[in-house]
Amino acid sequence: MNKFIGAHLSAAGGVDNVPQRAAEIGANAFALFTKNQRQWAAKPLTEETINRFKLECRKYDFLPEQILPHDSYLINLGAPEQDKLAKSREAFVDEMARCEQLGLTLLNFHPGSHLKKIAEDVCLDRIAESINIAHRRIPNVVAVIENTAGQGTNLGWRFEHLAHIIDKVEDKSRVGVCIDTCHTFTAGYDLRTKQACHSTFSEFDRVVGMHYLRAMHLNDSKIALGDRVDRHQSLGKGEIGWACFEYIMQDERFDSIPLILETIEPEIWADEIQQLRRFAIKR
Ligand SMILES: [Zn+2]
Ligand SMILES: [Zn+2]
Repeated sequence: MNKFIGAHLSAAGGVDNVPQRAAEIGANAFALFTKNQRQWAAKPLTEETINRFKLECRKYDFLPEQILPHDSYLINLGAPEQDKLAKSREAFVDEMARCEQLGLTLLNFHPGSHLKKIAEDVCLDRIAESINIAHRRIPNVVAVIENTAGQGTNLGWRFEHLAHIIDKVEDKSRVGVCIDTCHTFTAGYDLRTKQACHSTFSEFDRVVGMHYLRAMHLNDSKIALGDRVDRHQSLGKGEIGWACFEYIMQDERFDSIPLILETIEPEIWADEIQQLRRFAIKR
């Protein structure tokens, strides 16, 4: 098993501090924000930060396929209003450009929300077009759509939504999916037993295609199956339970992609990673 396991780490003090933080918790993957996720504007990355980030990645053995940058929460690539849409598309291109500067090849983002102002299909088409626009501007970064819990008017909680977006993306080689276990579960796809995991991922394969899976977020859930609310929990302490994470660790379809914890107790991330590794060895 070639499992890339890590967590979404703080980039406080600069993105160049993250590789060391990842190594300290025994991770061989990590996620990060390349700018403040709650602000629109960000200072450009300096030459010095970019160079040091690349050096640190080399020092701690992180390759681009082990790193999953996440975009700002403000961006809505399916925004109903033209000014918000334009602003989001501009910010998304900037996020992709920052990834490219850092030598990174994946960008994880939440698809978007219709805000009850436009139809679902129109919103999904808009999201796809936003990806097309970013692809035309930035050459090498893969747009990795995260499935959502379906809270509020967020789209991307049904596998069909992800398939719809991918269908309208022109460059299929640069679009993929990040499946978040908490979001999947609260969106209504059971993951509580290995059998349930098998059915859910068969469904994903049928509707979207396993080959589009480019990353995972490993989170347990505080919220019950199908309640469409996004509240993460530490592994094994929520409604999903350990079986799901054991299943993922023992299945080679989840090899060689970032498997990222966004669980709620950073102080036990090292332990969670160790436990996941034990599942990956023991077969
Ligand atoms: Zn997530
Ligand atoms: Zn979440």
